[in-house]
Amino acid sequence: MSKTKTSKQSERVKTLIAEEQTRILFQQAPISNATVYAVATLFYFILIPHIDSGIVEIWVISLFATATFRLVLWALRRRDPRKMTTKQWQRAYLFGCLMVGVAWSLIVPHIYLTDNLTVAIGLCMLLFGIVASAVVILSVYLPAFVVYVYPQLLTLIGTLLFYGDFAHNTLAIATFAYLVMTTLFTRNVHRNLVENIGLEVQNRRLIDELSEEVRSRETTIDLRTSELQDKNSALSKEINEREQAESALRKSEERFELAMRGANDGVYDWNLKTNEIYYSPRWKKMLGYEDDELSNDFSTWENLVENKDRERSWVMLSDYIEGKRDNFHIEFKMRHKDGHWVDILSRAFLVRDAEGNAIRTVGTHVDISEKKRQEAHILKQAHYDGLTGLPNRFLAMDRLTQLLKETDRDHQMIAVLFLDLDGFKRVNDTLGHETGDRLLVQAAERLKSAVRDADSVCRLGGDEFVVLLRNLSELTDAKAVAGNLIAQFRDPFTLDDRELVVTTSIGISIYPSDGVTPTELLRNADTAMYHSKEQGRNTFNFYTSEMNLNISRSLEVEEQLQGAHKRQEFSVLYQPVIDMRSNRVVGAEALLRWNNPALGMVSPDEFIPIAEQTGVILEIGRYVLQQAVINALQWQEMIDNEFRISINLSPRQFRDVKLVEFISDLLEHSGLKAEALILEITEGVLMSGQREIVAALDRLHSKGIGLAMDDFGTGYSSLSHLRNYPFDVLKIDRSFINDLMIDAADWELVNASVLMAHGMGLEVVAEGVETEDQLKQLQNMQCDLAQGFLFNKPITAEAFTSMLQDSVSLS
Ligand code: C2E
Ligand code: CA
Ligand code: CA
Repeated sequence: MSKTKTSKQSERVKTLIAEEQTRILFQQAPISNATVYAVATLFYFILIPHIDSGIVEIWVISLFATATFRLVLWALRRRDPRKMTTKQWQRAYLFGCLMVGVAWSLIVPHIYLTDNLTVAIGLCMLLFGIVASAVVILSVYLPAFVVYVYPQLLTLIGTLLFYGDFAHNTLAIATFAYLVMTTLFTRNVHRNLVENIGLEVQNRRLIDELSEEVRSRETTIDLRTSELQDKNSALSKEINEREQAESALRKSEERFELAMRGANDGVYDWNLKTNEIYYSPRWKKMLGYEDDELSNDFSTWENLVENKDRERSWVMLSDYIEGKRDNFHIEFKMRHKDGHWVDILSRAFLVRDAEGNAIRTVGTHVDISEKKRQEAHILKQAHYDGLTGLPNRFLAMDRLTQLLKETDRDHQMIAVLFLDLDGFKRVNDTLGHETGDRLLVQAAERLKSAVRDADSVCRLGGDEFVVLLRNLSELTDAKAVAGNLIAQFRDPFTLDDRELVVTTSIGISIYPSDGVTPTELLRNADTAMYHSKEQGRNTFNFYTSEMNLNISRSLEVEEQLQGAHKRQEFSVLYQPVIDMRSNRVVGAEALLRWNNPALGMVSPDEFIPIAEQTGVILEIGRYVLQQAVINALQWQEMIDNEFRISINLSPRQFRDVKLVEFISDLLEHSGLKAEALILEITEGVLMSGQREIVAALDRLHSKGIGLAMDDFGTGYSSLSHLRNYPFDVLKIDRSFINDLMIDAADWELVNASVLMAHGMGLEVVAEGVETEDQLKQLQNMQCDLAQGFLFNKPITAEAFTSMLQDSVSLS
């Protein structure tokens, strides 16, 4: 505490003590003054007989007056203590005491007048009594004691000394001693009293301070309490809100559950911190279990999932949690309570906390067994011939590719046997399709029974079959099989209770001597088969290189191709692409034409393979692209729709490192949208398997350019290519459309192709649509687009423009 504060406090204590002294002083006033009245009256009656009247009366009156003065003071203070300061009250009362003291002393000198010892002694006793009572009453305020007692005792001492004899002198000394003693005594009493008062004052102050402290604490407590109350109410409000939110969440979760249940989904909620998993009843039901039959922990899933799927799922999930992939979406098999496998599609969403740590995984399980069965069915449909149950062309080609991959070129051979039934068309025409079909089924069975299990018998379509022989060490082995197959057809077929002999012609190509690709091998086996037909049927032939050569013509074409572009012998025709739903033109395919003065019109089928070999195709290809893009822009403006232009690209063009750049520049400078351009490629482009080609395809596709697989169904037609490359459009080869109404196998192939393509999100174009019947069939199959002579032959750009003008003015 600072000094000023301490002195201020002691100052304050002093005033408080003075106040208390004054209070006590005034408190005694009624009794002490009443005593003055009483004693004065008593002495008046005692003294009156002994002292001349007058003096006693004056004495009594002065006593009454002074006592009354003090009483008046008392009454005034009682009414309003603040009328005067403590000091003023004290002074006033001191004056009153002086007056009373002096009044008492007035009678003392008159004692001698009485000559009566008893009266004198009585008077002395009175004085001593008054002094004694003053010790008690006035000790609280020493000046009051002094002014009250000293006048009386000093007058007495003076009076006694006035006698002058020894006895009176002795009495005077004794009285003086008494005065000194009472003074000292009173001083001590005074000290104690003041000390007590001080203590009391301090106590009171302490109490005041304490109660002040208590009060301030109470207010603090009150404040805190109200703060607490505020917080409490805020908290309960929050709790309330939270409860509402939670119940909303519960409701939405219930709704989610319900929705999931409706959608046949199982739900799980995996707390990654505690490793607890909640599996919904539907989740368990999917595997044939009741809710209480499976425990809610991780082992449940681990135990029921197929071994190889477990690893895969783990890898995917940890990648997802670590942020290496942005979704979790996986199919796996889980064991049903009955023992069979259930195909499950599992999706999961991560819940992360504020720091981004994964804390929960919420996911769904969908039973996709049925979908898988259907997919397998479609796949089977797409891979097997519905009539004979034999692998179809697609699967035959897949198997051949596989065989080529597996076979060691130096030590083993593969034989491709191409079979065609002799006179099958006649059977079909005379005995009807159904009989023809039965013949095919029986023929298939005979073929199958004639080969080893490891060898494949496939139906290519119509009455064409192919037999693949693997692991041949000698050509004679193939010869033996071919002979055996011919022998199978010696016995007549029984059809409609009729016996019918149907023979077969076979052509054989050998890997690696007759070709290293499936297409080459098949084509050459086909060529060899024609030779067997030419030799009178019912025989087999090995392919020889002399079989299909017309060298002089090829050399001529090659010669003429040089400089043909500079001589402006090329032109581009356009064939409209029709939307089968709206029957409107939505695009065109650009088709190259070559008119040579020496050779006349040369078919692209003839000159393009040669242009490929010589590399002339690069130059011609760019010309086609430029022409087509310019025309497409013009037509896009004419018809207010998403007109698309299709352009054929050959394998050689893809090996041109500048191809992508050239196309990008072309689009940029012309302003044609990438989406309006479709590049048609045959599988030949993919067959080479060169990485630059795949990279070019990806780059083109990533720019938004469409990719179409051309001539699907011919040569090497693998569904895996469709799956592995970014195709947007599938073009079914016109040879299939051509036989659509005649050959059930072709119908099935087209139908399966449409289904598969749609399953993979591809659009389907039917090429070479020539009849209304074909169109109707294709429409039934949900085929998207069509091209063909039924609508238009390839026409010049001018003809195309006026055709569009006509259709625009019509609509
Ligand atoms: P493609 O790509 O399959 O072209 C379709 C072919 O089918 C065209 O023959 C077209 O005239 C023909 N066509 C269209 N509708 C019908 C129909 O209803 N019935 C029949 N029977 N045929 C129809 P084209 O013009 O002789 O072309 C033959 C092939 O030459 C094309 O087959 C394509 O592979 C190639 N080709 C044509 N132009 C180019 C080109 O600019 N670049 C490259 N690399 N190849 C081209
Ligand atoms: Ca084409
Ligand atoms: Ca085609």
